[in-house]
Amino acid sequence: MCGIIAYVGEKKCRGIIINGLKRLEYRGYDSAGIAVLMKEDGKKNNRQFKPDSYGIRIAKQAGKIAELEKLIKGSDIDGCVGIGHTRWATHGAPTQINAHPHMDCNSKIAVVHNGIIENYAELKEELISKGHKFVSETDTEVIPHMLEEFNNGDLLIAMQKLLKRIKGSGAIVALNSQVPDEIIAARIASPLIIGIGRDGNFLASDMPAVLEHTKNFIIVNDFETIRIKKDSIEIFDIDGKKITREPFKANWSITSAEKSGYEDFMLKEIFEQPFGVKETMRGRLIEGQLDFKELNMTSEQIRSLEKIHIIACGTSSHAALLGKQLIEKWARIPVEVEVSSEYRYKDPIVEKNCLFIAITQSGETIDTLAAIREARSKGARIVSITNVVGSTVARESDAVIYTHAGPEIGVCATKTFTAQMIVMYLVAIYLAKETGRLDQEKIKEILDELEILPNKIQSMLNNSEQIKRIADQLYKYKTFLFLGRLFGLPVALEGALKLKEVSYIHAEGYAAGEMKHGPIALTDTNTTVVSIVPRDSVYEKMLSNIEEVKSRNATILSIATEGDIQISRYSNYVFYVPKTIEELYGILTIVPLQLLSYYIAKNLGRNVDQPRNLAKSVTVE
Ligand code: GLU
Repeated sequence: MCGIIAYVGEKKCRGIIINGLKRLEYRGYDSAGIAVLMKEDGKKNNRQFKPDSYGIRIAKQAGKIAELEKLIKGSDIDGCVGIGHTRWATHGAPTQINAHPHMDCNSKIAVVHNGIIENYAELKEELISKGHKFVSETDTEVIPHMLEEFNNGDLLIAMQKLLKRIKGSGAIVALNSQVPDEIIAARIASPLIIGIGRDGNFLASDMPAVLEHTKNFIIVNDFETIRIKKDSIEIFDIDGKKITREPFKANWSITSAEKSGYEDFMLKEIFEQPFGVKETMRGRLIEGQLDFKELNMTSEQIRSLEKIHIIACGTSSHAALLGKQLIEKWARIPVEVEVSSEYRYKDPIVEKNCLFIAITQSGETIDTLAAIREARSKGARIVSITNVVGSTVARESDAVIYTHAGPEIGVCATKTFTAQMIVMYLVAIYLAKETGRLDQEKIKEILDELEILPNKIQSMLNNSEQIKRIADQLYKYKTFLFLGRLFGLPVALEGALKLKEVSYIHAEGYAAGEMKHGPIALTDTNTTVVSIVPRDSVYEKMLSNIEEVKSRNATILSIATEGDIQISRYSNYVFYVPKTIEELYGILTIVPLQLLSYYIAKNLGRNVDQPRNLAKSVTVE
């Protein structure tokens, strides 16, 4: 979690860093800080500086970036070399003292860090025994003290030594007041990119942080160390060997990282779904023909597949569940879905002819990454589905399928979820086509329907006012049960997750038939049951389940198919989605549920873009 940004160049960087931190705020928002190098002639803060020497000035504050901004308003803190951090605390409470940057004993080195130093306790003890003084409770603070210990004039070499001693994960960026024209950085398993600017260079946790300044980037790999100056970039391996790497140009636009008139990123991203879905199909579904070279598998390899494992966390795991249903139904290949954090520790069985699919929006989810490594060590072939080009998961996979949804800033996944669902449809049809287990006519019917999905999603979004009116009635309820069957089940799970994430209301997603085995006990007049009840093969069964909760005084909101008049007899509220084929209702029924969560949360005055305790990409275990 957490966001890092750094700049060295000709411009003053305070504004660059604060704006960058605001773009990174979705990654962590419990506290924030900046450090800049400033000329410190004479005596300051009880220290005597030589003429023309530099000192490090730090400002940090608990709370959101806005609190940091308030703190520095009116202060002269600014310079041409600086670093910034927005924290998602792992070690130590989100207080001002624990906020980054952290310093060495002599205030000559300032460090920001994203990740966890697993062996920090042992290192801290060692450093204390050597006389180092610690002020915070963070694991991070061992880094500046170790750099101080190792520094013989070149902080880059000290950083290489540090990488050999620490265990865990980290993107680390450091300022050194003794060498005021450079920034030193390193990476182990947390994202870090270099942005190449015209009048200076950047480091950041992700591209949107600096998109307004540059579109040219270099990815930093694990165990690499970096030296950036205003007109040079150098990359080294852990032993100091120089590495050359070509930059790439990002095709994300700056408006995609701005709200563009919407009240919140979440709402903007919900409304971007027709476009995101279209983009994800672009180049893959052309005039009714499916082309999926990215899978990088021959027809023979596909035909010999005996098993598929799909690994994911959170919302991505709901896309995985849909994928399982589709692949099993259309391609008749058995699929197992597991959450990454469980998969990695259970000594998993990797069959000979199996395929391992990992789904992660950010491509940096630490548990998914670890699961990939575990599966690879057992010989699995890895295909990843991610939204971030060049992310760690993408780089560690045999094949990558990008969801081209554009950057998602709201912490809750919306447009990246529907893009993942689209990839699941395309992969499942492709496997079915290559194995010859689905007839051409059915394939054509599905592809034709997929092509017109963006318009259908748009027509529902045009009707968002209706969902808002329903949310205005339902936001006071204490419990929500989301019920679905078959293709409606992943939707029910995702609908419940969305609502709890943004509104903090207790919500559960359940297989409708399972409700009688427990959750029905929750049902009373304070309960809303959201039923996913399109006109599909389990429609009648769903009606019976709705009857059961209705007779126990729950309020019913049904998400149903246009033209289904009888559903209103069973429901207090109905939202209609356009007609489609059974398997595709998943993608149409989730959109009103995203809107429902959004409007309920707004009614409750929640911060929908940055819900409490959550961060966008989970880079700690
Ligand atoms: N482990 C560090 C801390 O708790 C960094 C957390 C982060 O990545 O924000 O301060």
